[in-house]
Amino acid sequence: MDYLKSPIYVSKPSLPDLQDFLPYLEQIWESKILTNNGSFHKQLEKELAEYLGVPYISLFANGTLGLVTALQVLGISGEVITTPFSFVATSHSLLWNNIKPVFVDVEPEFCNLDPEKIEAAITSNTTAILPVHVYGNPCKVERIEEIAKKHSLKVIYDAAHAFGVNYEDQSVCNYGDISILSFHATKVFNTMEGGAIICHDANTKKQIDFLKNFGFASETTIMACGINSKMNEMQAALGLLQLQSHSANNEKRKAIDHFYRKNLNGIKGISFLAQPKNTVPNHAYFPIFVDEKEYGISRDMLYEKLKENGIYGRRYFYPLISEFSMYENYESANSANLLIAKEVSQMVICLPIYPDLKLAEIDYIIHCISGFNQEKEINLIL
Ligand SMILES: *Cc1c(COP(=O)(O)O)cnc(C)c1O
Repeated sequence: MDYLKSPIYVSKPSLPDLQDFLPYLEQIWESKILTNNGSFHKQLEKELAEYLGVPYISLFANGTLGLVTALQVLGISGEVITTPFSFVATSHSLLWNNIKPVFVDVEPEFCNLDPEKIEAAITSNTTAILPVHVYGNPCKVERIEEIAKKHSLKVIYDAAHAFGVNYEDQSVCNYGDISILSFHATKVFNTMEGGAIICHDANTKKQIDFLKNFGFASETTIMACGINSKMNEMQAALGLLQLQSHSANNEKRKAIDHFYRKNLNGIKGISFLAQPKNTVPNHAYFPIFVDEKEYGISRDMLYEKLKENGIYGRRYFYPLISEFSMYENYESANSANLLIAKEVSQMVICLPIYPDLKLAEIDYIIHCISGFNQEKEINLIL
């Protein structure tokens, strides 16, 4: 910490100027419409659908409730095939619906669910596949669709990392039956807390909108046991402002991503993911993978040394979901079936990446990574 004025965290939320937010707040205070599909909520749904290029979007209080509701609206039950290499909300959403998670290994290129291992895990109880576009890199969507069609399974994408990502000239959220976004503070587009479901037809959107409001289909009828997961007007107003700076922020992330790629290249034992093909990425994360034998010190040692020097990377995703005690007793949590997930989970550190990250700070991070394994003196003063 001798060399840094303040610690560098893995992400730092972008916010608009407070002055710019005040007129929105004044409007809310004046109208007294605070939630329940108010005018900012309606406007944000419209603007997001246009911006992302998706047909139907329903805003949520957070991404997790979006996942829970997506499974509910599609009537998913029994067993669902999913990845252990994700944030725990992915599997939790299954348990909230009394569904059994079936963990399948990831592929080594992007750490996404490996389609070639899905079929072996399908049983007569399987009703859906729940993959995650980890770090915003698109899953092998064509293969997943093929398998889902063949076995009549639904596909729900946890696209919490994939805001603004395009694949083959369209939003990656247009693939599968439903996709879920998160607008949490740590994500590339935030409404402090928030999320959304993207679906492909008006009727499904209508059902989703009932379910996020206790299941009310009219004043006097309830269609199912819905929960309260509505986004409020302050979140929606903030979202409208955040949307204005999203492209500029993405450009800044892109520059940081390129700088990391250029300067980490050649550090022995440190690797990073390739740029995905036919994809407009969102540079949400910058994971590196530490090969202890080649690099000289372990991932955890590097992680600790970075922290000692004021750099707070995160081990996304360590431990695996299947390694948490509440999940470890499922047969599919057996690590013999999840070898690649286990390996990447033990090698990964996500480096800081956010629009305000300064060039000097990235330089410092790279300098640390290239010096720690050689016991070099770190003497860069910021
Ligand atoms: C952030 C995240 C979620 C949960 O989103 P919240 O908005 O925080 O509820 C779900 N899945 C993944 C992969 C995430 O990273």
